[in-house]
Amino acid sequence: MTMRRIYFDHNATTPVDPAVLAEMLPYLSAEYGNASSVHSFGQSARGAVERARESVAALIGARPAEIVFTSGGTESDNAAICGIAGAASSDRRHIITTAIEHAAVLHTCQALERHTVDVSYLPVSRDGVVDPGDVRGALRPETVLISVMHANNELGTLQPIEEIGRIAAEAGVTFHTDAVQSAGKVPLDVAQLGVHLLSLSAHKLCGPKGVGALYVRKGVRLEPLMHGGHSERDRRAGTENVPAIAGFGKAAELARARLAEQGARISALRDRLEQGLLQRVPGARVNGRSAPRTPNTCNMLFPGVESESLVIALDLQGLACSAGAACSSGATDPSHVLAAIGLSSAEARASVRFSLGCTNTDEEIARALEIIPAVVAGHRGVSPGRREPVPTP
Ligand code: PLP
Repeated sequence: MTMRRIYFDHNATTPVDPAVLAEMLPYLSAEYGNASSVHSFGQSARGAVERARESVAALIGARPAEIVFTSGGTESDNAAICGIAGAASSDRRHIITTAIEHAAVLHTCQALERHTVDVSYLPVSRDGVVDPGDVRGALRPETVLISVMHANNELGTLQPIEEIGRIAAEAGVTFHTDAVQSAGKVPLDVAQLGVHLLSLSAHKLCGPKGVGALYVRKGVRLEPLMHGGHSERDRRAGTENVPAIAGFGKAAELARARLAEQGARISALRDRLEQGLLQRVPGARVNGRSAPRTPNTCNMLFPGVESESLVIALDLQGLACSAGAACSSGATDPSHVLAAIGLSSAEARASVRFSLGCTNTDEEIARALEIIPAVVAGHRGVSPGRREPVPTP
C-alpha cells in the first residue's frame, strides 16, 4: 500500500490549485500569443494579463495600474530595494531593515553596502517582532527606504507594519514590505498598511512558481532592474509569462475568496498540532509563540534533537517539514532568524518548522501527532551527517 504523505511545508511552496492549472493551460497551448502583439492572439494574452492584474490588485487593495508582474518574490524584493536606491539622490544613501528578513532582502541590502549604501539591520524581540520605536530611532536625514517584512517565513510572526507605515509617512521615507508569506493568509490592504511597495509571490498561495508581483504606489519612482522592451509600462522589461501570470491571477482570486474560511480552519489545525506536540513531547517549545502569527506556521524547538536528521526521519515516515537551520560541513549554522530571537545555536539546531495549508486535514493532524512524538523520542541525541547548506525558503 502506498503511504499517504503529509505536507507541512507550505511556507516553502504550495501545490498548484486545480482551478489555477485550468486557468493556465489555454495559454500554454492554443492561446500562445505575445501580450504585446496587436493581433487577436496577442489580445487574448493581453486580456489574461490584465484580468490577472485586477485580481492581484484586489487581493491587496491596490489599483491594477500599481501592479508590476515579476519572476517571483526574490525579483520583487530586488526591484523594490535596488529600484529605490538607484533612483535616489547621492545624499540619500541609508536603508533601514531588520535582522530577520528573507535572503532576498538581506542579500540585496548587503550587495548595496558594497556600493556606498549604509544599512541598519534592526534587532527583534525574543518573539521575533521588530519594535517600531527602533525604526523611528534609526531614521537619519539620508534614509531613503525602510524595508520590513510583513510575516516572517520561519516563525510566521507578523510585524507592526501599520505603525511603521505611520512613522515612514511622518518622516517622508519610502516604505517597502515583503508580504510573500502573509498574502493569502491574512487580510492585506496597502492603504491601511501605509506601504509604498509590497512584494508578492504566486507559489506561496497555490499559484505557479516563477511569477510574482511588486505593488508600486502611484507616483513612486523606481530605477528598473531589467532593461529592454516596454512591458509593464517600462517598469519591468521582458515578454510577460502569460500562463504563469494568468495562474497567479486565479490564485489571488481564490485566496481572497477563501481567506476568512481557510484562515480559521488552518489556524485551528495548527493550534491542535501545536498543543498536541507541547503535551506529548517533553520540553517542547514554540518559537515566537506570544507574537501575532500567520495562521499556518508553527516553529518548534525539541531540545536534544538535531533538526536536520529529524526532518529526514519524518520524511521517511511520510511527513514533510523543514529544519530551522542551515547545515554545512557537518557543523550546523543556526538560522539568522532563530539567532536573532536569541536562541543558542544548539536550540536553533533543534528547531523544526511545520507550515500548514489548504490541503491539510484533521485526520493528518491526528496522524502527525502519532508520528512526530515517536520520531522525536527516537532521535534525541542523534547527530546529522555532513550535508550541503540548505537555507530555509
Ligand atoms: N520573501 C519571503 C519572506 C519568502 O519566504 C520567500 C520564499 O521563500 C521569498 C521572499 C522569495 O520568493 P520567491 O521564491 O518567489 O523568489
